[in-house]
Amino acid sequence: MAPTAPLPDADLPDADLPDADLPNADLPNATAPHASALYAAGAPPLPAQPRLAGVERADVVVLGAGLTGLSTAIELAQRGLSVVVLEAQRAGWGASGRNGGQAIFGYGCDQGVLEDALGLDASRELFDWSLEGVAMVHERRTAFGIDCDWQAGHAHVPIKPRQVRELQAWRDSLGARYGYRLEWWDRDRLRGTLASERYLGALFDANSGHLHPLKYTLGLARAALSLGVRIFEGSPVQTLARGARPALHTAAGRVEADFVVLAGNATLRGIAPELEPRIMPVGTYIGATPPLGAARADALIGNRMAVADINWALDYFRLDADHRLLFGGRASYSTLPPPNLRATLARRLRRVFPQLQDVPIEQCWGGLVDISRNRAPDWGRLGDNVYYAQGFSGHGVAATGLAGRVIAEAIAGQSARLDAFARIPHRDFPGGRALRTPLLVAAMAWFKLRDALW
Ligand SMILES: Cc1cc2nc3c(=O)[nH]c(=O)nc-3n(C[C@H](O)[C@H](O)[C@H](O)COP(=O)(O)OP(=O)(O)OC[C@H]3O[C@@H](n4cnc5c(N)ncnc54)[C@H](O)[C@@H]3O)c2cc1C
Repeated sequence: MAPTAPLPDADLPDADLPDADLPNADLPNATAPHASALYAAGAPPLPAQPRLAGVERADVVVLGAGLTGLSTAIELAQRGLSVVVLEAQRAGWGASGRNGGQAIFGYGCDQGVLEDALGLDASRELFDWSLEGVAMVHERRTAFGIDCDWQAGHAHVPIKPRQVRELQAWRDSLGARYGYRLEWWDRDRLRGTLASERYLGALFDANSGHLHPLKYTLGLARAALSLGVRIFEGSPVQTLARGARPALHTAAGRVEADFVVLAGNATLRGIAPELEPRIMPVGTYIGATPPLGAARADALIGNRMAVADINWALDYFRLDADHRLLFGGRASYSTLPPPNLRATLARRLRRVFPQLQDVPIEQCWGGLVDISRNRAPDWGRLGDNVYYAQGFSGHGVAATGLAGRVIAEAIAGQSARLDAFARIPHRDFPGGRALRTPLLVAAMAWFKLRDALW
C-alpha cells in the first residue's frame, strides 16, 4: 500500500486559466516567497537568516532546511554537536512548507516491499520506527511549543470493490503481522462522518492525522536555532568536496565539517550524482477553498480527519483550522505547473463533494515529491562521512523526523538503524535524466488504466 504518493495524471485536458501562484520547479537560486501564500499567511514568519559569506566550521553541515535537514540538525544539536544548515532559499521553502500535511504511519511503499527486501523481522522493525516518526511530531510540538493545528484522524478510502478488498487485506496484514490495528468502516459508517457518496468504506487510523506543514517546519527551524544551530538562507550549495574533511561550497563561502548531510530532496542537483537517478521528481498540487464556516465544514467531514484515496493518481484532502477544504491531486510528470490546474482541482473536488458546486478554488500551489522506484525510503551514507535521505515518495511529513534521528544516531556512532534502511536496495530510474520521465509516464498510464477499469 502506497497511500500518499501522487503520480502522473496525464489524461486531463489542459485548457484553462494559468495559475500565477505556482512554484518554479527549477533549482532555486534566490530567496523566493513560500509557494503557498495561504500557509505563509498563517505561519509566524521566521526572522530572515543570513547568507553564507566566508568560511565556517562545524561538526556537521546539512544541505537543506526542510523537515529532513531541520530534524537532523535538532537531533545532532541535542547530542552536543555543532551544526550549520545551508538552505538555497528559505527554511521550509521546499516540499516541507507546502505539503498536504497528512502525517501517517509507514512509508511510501507497501510493507511487502520491505519484507521482500529485508525479511519480516526487519520489516517489522522499520514499521515500528515509522510509528516513532508520528510520535516525534507530538514530542516536538510539546518540547518546542510548536502550534501547528494538529488534528488527529486519517482515513484511506476505496472507490472500487477491488480497493475495498485491498484495504481489508492490508488491515488484516497490519494487524496479524505488525500488531497495528486499523478500524474498518463500512459505507454507512463512513457516510455518517464524510458527506461524500464516492467512497465504499474507509480504513480509519486514529493515530495518524494532519497539521499545518509550514507552521510545523518553521517551528522546527526556531527549535534548531534555539539549540545553537546556525542556519544560512539564500545560500545554494554548488559543490560537495569529499574527503577526510568534507565541505559544502556556495558561491560566497564554504562550510568545513567532519560530516555532511544531504537533505535537498527533489531539488538536489549536481551535488551527488549517484543519488539523483534513484529518484524521480514528480509535481503534485493542492487547491484551497475559501473558509466554509464551521457548520458547513463540519457537515463535510464531521470528525475533521484527513482523507486519501488509494488510486495511483490519488486525491487527498482535509479541513484546515480556518474551515477551508484543502484538496490535493493532479500530479504532473513534467514537473511544470499544469496550465489548467485550478479547474482540474475544482473538478476533482466536486467529484467528491458535488455539494460544493458554488465554492471556488481560491488558491492553489504545487511542489515536487521525490519518488523512488520501489517507493521505499532511500537513506544511507556515501563513503564514511556523507549522509543522505531521499525517496520519501510523497510520505514524508512523519518519516522525515525519523530520518533525521537515525542519521544523527549514525553520526554519533550508533548506525544500526540507518544500516537497516541502507540495506533496502534501490535502482536508478531507467533512461537517465532525459528518458526517465517518459518511461515513468508509460508505466503510470498502465496503473491509471487499471484504476479506471477495475
Ligand atoms: C504538494 C505536496 C504535498 C505533499 N503531501 C504530503 C502529505 O500530505 N503527507 C506526507 O507525508 N508527505 C507529503 N508530501 C511529501 C513531503 O512534503 C516530503 O516528503 C517532505 O517534506 C520532504 O522533506 P525534505 O526536508 O526531505 O525536503 P524539502 O522540504 O523539499 O527540503 C529540501 C530543501 O533543500 C533545499 N535545497 C535543495 N538543493 C539545495 C542546494 N543545492 N543548496 C542548498 N539547499 C538546497 C531546498 O530549497 C529545500 O528547502 C507532499 C509533498 C508535496 C510537494
